[in-house]
Amino acid sequence: MPTAIEIFKLLPKKNCGKCNYPTCLAFAMHIANSKAKLEDCPFISEEAKASLAASAAPPIRLVKIGHGARVFEMGDETELYRHEKKFFHPTGYALTIPDSSTPEEMRGRLGRIEALSYERVGQRLGIDLIALNNDSDDPSKFAESARALSDLTDQPIVLLSDSAASMRSAAASVAAKRPLLCGAVKDNLADFVAVAKEAGCPLAIRGKELRELAEMVAKARAGGVEDLVLDLEVATLKELVEKATIIRRHSVKKSFRGLGYPILVRAGAGEGAVLKGMIATMKYGSIVIFEDLKDSEAMPLFVLRQNIFTDPQVPIQVKPGIYPVNNPGEQAPILFTTNFSLTYFTVLADIEKSKMPAWLQVVDTEGLSVMTAYSASKLTPEIVAKALEDSGANTRSRSGQLVIPGMVTRMSGKLQEVTGMKIIVGPKESSGLPKFLKNL
Ligand code: SF4
Repeated sequence: MPTAIEIFKLLPKKNCGKCNYPTCLAFAMHIANSKAKLEDCPFISEEAKASLAASAAPPIRLVKIGHGARVFEMGDETELYRHEKKFFHPTGYALTIPDSSTPEEMRGRLGRIEALSYERVGQRLGIDLIALNNDSDDPSKFAESARALSDLTDQPIVLLSDSAASMRSAAASVAAKRPLLCGAVKDNLADFVAVAKEAGCPLAIRGKELRELAEMVAKARAGGVEDLVLDLEVATLKELVEKATIIRRHSVKKSFRGLGYPILVRAGAGEGAVLKGMIATMKYGSIVIFEDLKDSEAMPLFVLRQNIFTDPQVPIQVKPGIYPVNNPGEQAPILFTTNFSLTYFTVLADIEKSKMPAWLQVVDTEGLSVMTAYSASKLTPEIVAKALEDSGANTRSRSGQLVIPGMVTRMSGKLQEVTGMKIIVGPKESSGLPKFLKNL
C-alpha cells in the first residue's frame, strides 16, 4: 500500500471537501489506513487511479481455483509474521487420485477423502482440493478422468501432468471448473502458458532456483497468464523453509512482484509427507498436495492449520444464547460460560459426558475465557443477568438454579441479588462437571 504522502501527490489538491474530508491530505491519510476509497473523490484522474491501483495491489496475488460455491482462494497475504496482523487464506490440502482409476475406484477414493473431516471448536476441518494425476500418460484418458471427476465432486481440482498435450486435453474438458494446471517447467513453459490462456485457468510453474522461477513468472505474464502459483521443487525441509521464506520476504517486505504468488508444495506420501506438509503450513504454503493421508496424520495437520490461520486478535467465538444439553426439561439447572469457542466446547463436552440434562447459557464476553473476561470486567453479575434475560433462560428452566464456574465464586452474592436465583458454585475446572452434575 502506498504511503499517505505518495497518495497525496496524485490527488487534485482542490481541498474542496467533496470526499467528506476537509483536505486532500486528510483524505490521503484515510485511504492509506484503508478507511476511505479513491472513488470518493470526484476529481481524481484515470491515470492517478490506475497508478494507485497498481501500487495498492496485494504483494502476493490473490489466485482462485474452482467455480461456484467451492472456490478455493489463496495468496493476498500481507504479513511475514502472523502476529503482525493475521494470515488471510489457510493452506489448502489436496489429495491425489490417479487418472487410471475406474469410476468405481474414483467414487471410493472421493468417499474416503470426504470422510477425512472433523469438527473442532465449531469449525469443519477437511481436505480442500482434489488433484488428478496423469499417471496413464494418455491425453484422452486424462481428459476423460477429469470429466468424470468433475461430475463426481464440486471440490476444486488440480490437474497434474508434465505433458502439455495431456494438459490441453484435460483442461479443455473441465475449463468451466477453473482447475489449477500443474506441470509447467522451463522447457515446456510456452506450451503450458498457451494451454492456461486458452482455458482461462491458473497455472503452476515448477522450478528449482528462485531466479529461474522469477524468469518463468515474467514469461508467463508476458504470454498473458497472470494467475500463477509457484510450484517449489525442494530436496530437503531446510530448503523448503529457506525458499518459502525468501519468497515471502521479497514479496511483502521488498515489494518484489516477480515472486509475489502463492506457493505450492508436493508433499508425497508417508511420514515424511506429513512433516513436509506441516512445515509448508507454517511457512507460507498455499497448497500442499499429498498422495495419501491417514486419519492419524490428517487430524494434527488440520489442527495445526487451524491454529496458524486463526486471527490472533479475534478469538473464535460462538453465538451467545441458551443451549439445551442432554434434552433438558424445566427442572434442569442453568450453567453459564463465555462465548470463547474453546471454553464453550470444553464445557459442552463435559456436560454431555455427565449425561445430566442442563441448560448452558453462553455469555458474550467478546471471545474471552472465563478468568480473562472476569478480570477485564466483561463477565460481571450484571452482564450475566442481562444475558439470561436476553436469551429467555428463565422461561426454559424453572429450577431457579444457576451453576457458576468455580473460578468466579466471588460474584455469587451479587449474582444472586441481581438474578434472584439460587447460585451454586460449580467446579473450577470444566473436567469436574460430570461428577459435579451427577451429585447435584
Ligand atoms: Fe481533495 Fe478530492 Fe477530497 Fe476535494 S474531493 S478534498 S479534491 S480529495
